[in-house]
Amino acid sequence: MGFCGLSEATGRFCTRCGAILDIQTAAALQDEMESLDGKLSTILQDEDVQRLLVKKMIELGIE
Ligand SMILES: [Zn+2]
Repeated sequence: MGFCGLSEATGRFCTRCGAILDIQTAAALQDEMESLDGKLSTILQDEDVQRLLVKKMIELGIE
C-alpha cells in the first residue's frame, strides 16, 4: 500500500502517487542513493570541481 492509501496497486510503484510498494525496490534504491552519495562527496572534494561550482554559483547568482 502506498502513502496515498491505494491498496489495489500492483507492481513496484503506486500508480497514483508513485510511492515504492515493494521492499526490495525500496532497498535497492536506498543502496543506489548511498553509493551515489559516496561518489558525490568524493567528486566534491576535487579542487577543480569546487572551482567550477563556485564559478557556476556566481554565474547563477546563488549565494
Ligand atoms: Zn499511492
